[in-house]
Amino acid sequence: MSARARGGRRGSRQGRGRTGGRAGGRRVFFFGDGRADGRASQRDTLGGKGANLAEMTRLGLPVPPGFTIATAVAKAFAEGGGRVPAGVLREARAALARVERIMGARFGDPEHPLLLSVRSGSPVSMPGMMDTVLNLGLSDQTVAGLAERAGERFAWDSYRRFVQMFGDVVLGVPHERFEACLESVRDEVGASEDTQLGAGDLRRVTREYLEIVRAHTGAAFPQDPPEQLERAIAAVFRSWNNERAVRYRRLHGISDSLGTAVNVQAMVFGNMGEGCATGVAFTRDPNTGDKRFYGEYLENAQGEDVVAGIRTPQPINEASRSGSSLPSLEQQMPAVYRKLLRIAKRLERHYRDMQDIEFTVQQGRLWLLQTRTGKRTPTAAVRIAVDLVKERMLRREQAVCRVDPAQLDRLLHPTLDPNVRRDVLARGLPASPGAAVGAIVFSADVAEARAKAGEKVILVRAETSPDDIHGLHAAEGVLTTRGGMTSHAAVVARGMGKPCVVGCGAARIDEAARTLRVGGRELGEGDALTLDGTTGEVMAGRLPTVTPELGGAFTELMGWADRLRRLRVRTNADTPHDARVGREFGAEGIGLCRTEHMFFEPARVIAVREMILATTREERVRALAKLEPVQQSDFAGIFRAMDGLPVTVRLLDPPLHEFLPQNDDEIRELAEALDTGPAEVRARVDALREFNPMLGHRGCRLGITFPEIYEMQVRAILRAAREVAGEGIRVEPEIMIPLVAHESELARLRALVTREAARVLGDRPNIGLRVGTMIEVPRAALTAGAIAASADFFSFGTNDLTQMTYALSRDDAGRFLPEYIEMGILEDDPFVSIDESGIGELMRIAVQRGRAARADLTLGLCGEHGGDPKSVRFCHALGLDYVSCSPYRVPIARLAAAQAAVGER
Ligand code: PEP
Ligand code: MG
Repeated sequence: MSARARGGRRGSRQGRGRTGGRAGGRRVFFFGDGRADGRASQRDTLGGKGANLAEMTRLGLPVPPGFTIATAVAKAFAEGGGRVPAGVLREARAALARVERIMGARFGDPEHPLLLSVRSGSPVSMPGMMDTVLNLGLSDQTVAGLAERAGERFAWDSYRRFVQMFGDVVLGVPHERFEACLESVRDEVGASEDTQLGAGDLRRVTREYLEIVRAHTGAAFPQDPPEQLERAIAAVFRSWNNERAVRYRRLHGISDSLGTAVNVQAMVFGNMGEGCATGVAFTRDPNTGDKRFYGEYLENAQGEDVVAGIRTPQPINEASRSGSSLPSLEQQMPAVYRKLLRIAKRLERHYRDMQDIEFTVQQGRLWLLQTRTGKRTPTAAVRIAVDLVKERMLRREQAVCRVDPAQLDRLLHPTLDPNVRRDVLARGLPASPGAAVGAIVFSADVAEARAKAGEKVILVRAETSPDDIHGLHAAEGVLTTRGGMTSHAAVVARGMGKPCVVGCGAARIDEAARTLRVGGRELGEGDALTLDGTTGEVMAGRLPTVTPELGGAFTELMGWADRLRRLRVRTNADTPHDARVGREFGAEGIGLCRTEHMFFEPARVIAVREMILATTREERVRALAKLEPVQQSDFAGIFRAMDGLPVTVRLLDPPLHEFLPQNDDEIRELAEALDTGPAEVRARVDALREFNPMLGHRGCRLGITFPEIYEMQVRAILRAAREVAGEGIRVEPEIMIPLVAHESELARLRALVTREAARVLGDRPNIGLRVGTMIEVPRAALTAGAIAASADFFSFGTNDLTQMTYALSRDDAGRFLPEYIEMGILEDDPFVSIDESGIGELMRIAVQRGRAARADLTLGLCGEHGGDPKSVRFCHALGLDYVSCSPYRVPIARLAAAQAAVGER
């Protein structure tokens, strides 16, 4: 063990004595000179930055000494009406005394002043959201001491920076006031950059800044360093609740209760002239994941200059050059560069992950200001996880847990170029990820026509219905002003892998005028629109997109995931094409084939309508006879695509009126086909209308009252199965009955299926047919034991189960649910992530009662939650056999299932 590491242990014991622990735990954690009270594992207590500063100090790395005030104090601060508890300030003073000893300088000393940085640092990274104050401790008195030691220009530059930052962050003086003043002095002396200002100019700027503060606050700028420190600490705590931080937390699902820590640290200066610099470096390329040390720096500058982008940064080495002709750190300061590289490698090995490092060089001496797990693109995340296994830093199961399944979404779809500015007009629900760019169209027919002519279009509708399916097919993306995450548009677009934004309430469509009013703009048909289905953003114009590449690393990582997971993953697919896509993404079968989606092909919809409007059984049977061969050929196509894998086909589910004609043209067309008049058709359509179609004549209720519909579908499925089996393809058909609420419904319909199967397959069926039901009505979940008597399998339809248990309309929730989430009433949209305590509890009951009645019952889920990582983890924990999701989400579910299995070990 190195002397430093031993020192660290000793230091931590001493630290407790000196900075004073108290009942309830330490609140101030010292670090410096190889000793630290905290460590990397204390993220929750110290925040990410504080925990890593402590860890780096323990590793003996050059970290400026300081102390971290724990996140728990943030709570005390807020509850105490915005005051830092006196005990904490006492502990902070004791820690500060240790910093002073190490630095050989004293805080507030007019001769040799110690300057401090005060920074936020929460347990979850929230880059740039909270406040920072640098160069704290300067005053009219101490600036003289600093000038004496480090030069006039540097001292006044530091003082003016401090007054501006403290003025802005702590005293609330708008920073434009300071900028304007600086600019006018620059103009006056003819300086184009701040670096051209001399000591006299900077002194003048500082004096004027102090006046700006006095004028704005009505009081002199605080000249007492301890008072400055106390107020800066308070301001950083307060910044946890500033508007942008709160918004960021909402957006990223970060809990408000975490709080921020405050890091107070001795300043080191990258702006002291010759041999000084500041920069950031990544241990690997954060865009591609390539193993190359990568970063940039600025000579003679302070950290915020890099962030502010005032000057063009220089590359740290050749690998980071990308076109820059400026000299690199490696060329300018080779010894510093070598040391930085050595430290970077060590940090990466220590943390076993790519690190994002902030450093400062003060007069040739390297200091580390921060290290953290580097943010990366999804491509880089996969690549780095796989490479770290090859480099023996990670085990496979650890690598599988390093990639956020939700990130895969972006790997599988084109996304907006991250370097392009977005002019966001409005925001809706991010229903299906990826970027779509095209011309606005307001109807499915126009979408189809324009797409056929080679144009890329975005379908914009108040909401979509199954009637719009051809428009959804033709469009690049879909925008609706109504509807939630399981509305028709959302489900269908997701299935097709098309970007979709739904429930964009801020947008208004005028169908008659064919205009879209959004974000103060009026857009017409043909105007360009860009959608980001990953964020829900809607933008005018055509923004550039980038297509990610799925490399070998992706396949390798997914292979490891597959070997680790227990939960199987199927896909929801209604066409042979979707089935093939799902299979390519690794689906192990089809968990839901919604037969109604096949009814909307223009060639069929007339027959479907004839069938619905039939007044006698004979008429209906005649119409069904037209549909039977086309259904059979659809199913045959799907069985072929899924050779050897199970295929669950659900019998007709939606209320029939959904298929009926909507406008006069369609009514006329149907009247002709039925050899009757439009008035008669309209009357029959009206007669079919229901007050609550979602709770009306749909699902198995159709099969009970019109058994000939289900009989036709069963025949089509089994004839297709027999046909395909005859080609030497293995078929595993499963017939699923929707919306069962009572065991008698299922018993009766199972008998119907068995009867038809016997007719098609004869006495010696060589096809192993299984019959099961969806569990999507609360009553079915509660009576699962009785229902299991007629079921080989259950598949949870969590879209309807959520709708019915929560009394929350799938199609209308978009109007108010986002506000519920914004207000913190609900943490998640229950249509996105299973509501574990409510809907999840019903599922638990159904699993228990179903399995108790029938031990070999297969249990799956086919609602939209099947592609949501959190819900997948829940399904794993519940002991389901599989989840089924839209084809593009299959890899997400595979990875989430593997992580759930690893998490259990
Ligand atoms: C469900 O309700 O969860 C389901 C899968 O069926 P649908 O979305 O078609 O109603
Ligand atoms: Mg359903």
